[in-house]
Amino acid sequence: MAPDLESMRPTWAEIDLAAFERNVAAVAGMLPQGSRLIAVLKADAYGHGAVELARHCRPELVAMIATSLLEEALELRHAGIELPLLILGPIPAEQIPDAAGNDIAIGVVGPEELADVAAFAKTRDVTVHLKLDSGMGRMGITEGDLSAAVDMLRAAPRVRVAGIYTHFADADDPSDPHTDAQIRTFGRLVQLLRERGIDPQLHHLANSAATMRHVVTPGDWVRVGISLYGGEPLVDGHSRLEPLMRWRTEIARLKTLPAGSPVGYGSTFRTTRPSMIATLPVGYADGYNRGLSNRGEALVRGRRAPVVGRVSMDLVTLDVTDIHDVAVGDEVVLLGSQGPETISAEEIAERIGTISYEVFCAVSARVPRVYRSGRDVFVRSRFDRYDARLVTGSER
Ligand SMILES: *Cc1c(COP(=O)(O)O)cnc(C)c1O
Repeated sequence: MAPDLESMRPTWAEIDLAAFERNVAAVAGMLPQGSRLIAVLKADAYGHGAVELARHCRPELVAMIATSLLEEALELRHAGIELPLLILGPIPAEQIPDAAGNDIAIGVVGPEELADVAAFAKTRDVTVHLKLDSGMGRMGITEGDLSAAVDMLRAAPRVRVAGIYTHFADADDPSDPHTDAQIRTFGRLVQLLRERGIDPQLHHLANSAATMRHVVTPGDWVRVGISLYGGEPLVDGHSRLEPLMRWRTEIARLKTLPAGSPVGYGSTFRTTRPSMIATLPVGYADGYNRGLSNRGEALVRGRRAPVVGRVSMDLVTLDVTDIHDVAVGDEVVLLGSQGPETISAEEIAERIGTISYEVFCAVSARVPRVYRSGRDVFVRSRFDRYDARLVTGSER
């Protein structure tokens, strides 16, 4: 059944599942011999919807799905996703039984976590990937911890080390030598483990940035997030694949104001000419950053219109004086393309001093996601479960 978009709030994020499949195929297709793709679907697939995207991960192209939290991995298992799952962690000791019980591999990020896993594995099997700190300084077993880690593993035969991995700090900048240094450190730590009998064949180092730069040893797997969503992982790059998300709303009100009129909280904008101001039913509660006050732009009738005044919790005001024939109900694009114009996540990120990752993740659960895959359209909304008829009693 086609979803009833007419009866929803007019603010939603369209997610192009066919573009996701093309991005997955593009990344899988650029990997060297023997390498495979781990799709990073943490944080609800960077706001795109992890369950829906996981359903479009074909096992020929996607070897594994990584999440950050146990809860995120369980959400996928409950939705019937059968691909191997990896939690990047850290996870609290109390969650280890549920991870193991649901056939979810645990990223072990330090000696304390390894001790917890080993204690659990006294009576049961558990699969882990060992994270090494090659120079991120955040998570991972350091060279100093290595010896104790090996001792713990030797004493815990039911801990199966299925993989070893590390994470790059500066792969987004091709001129930064730190990535090469991290690769060398990782190689040295892997060699030390090998000498002491811990030698899983599976290694994974590269994020999107390293993958797009082809900094991948043949046979190594890669953990790719942002590139699958069409974000640009490189600082000065042109490696972007197809963006999936198009965030749109509609003009709810139009108002003509004389010159000198204030608009919005704090009266931070004052019209300098007779103006047409459009009010949009979207705000910072939806993830439209308040830093875009008097700074953002949106697309109306294929043209850019500036955000004027402060972004409120539920409302944004645009100056549409220069948009010919503008009307209530016109579609407004906050992120994505309309006609010849595009507002990218990188553009928004630049305006507010962040990265595309945060722009995507910020689009809140209040914004329904409308999925398109060929001619199929369906909606996921946190309000799905409420049926207006129960409230009005019109069916009784
Ligand atoms: C998030 C994450 C990734 C994916 O990073 P992208 O830059 O989005 O490709 C890979 N590895 C780890 C450990 C991560 O936390």
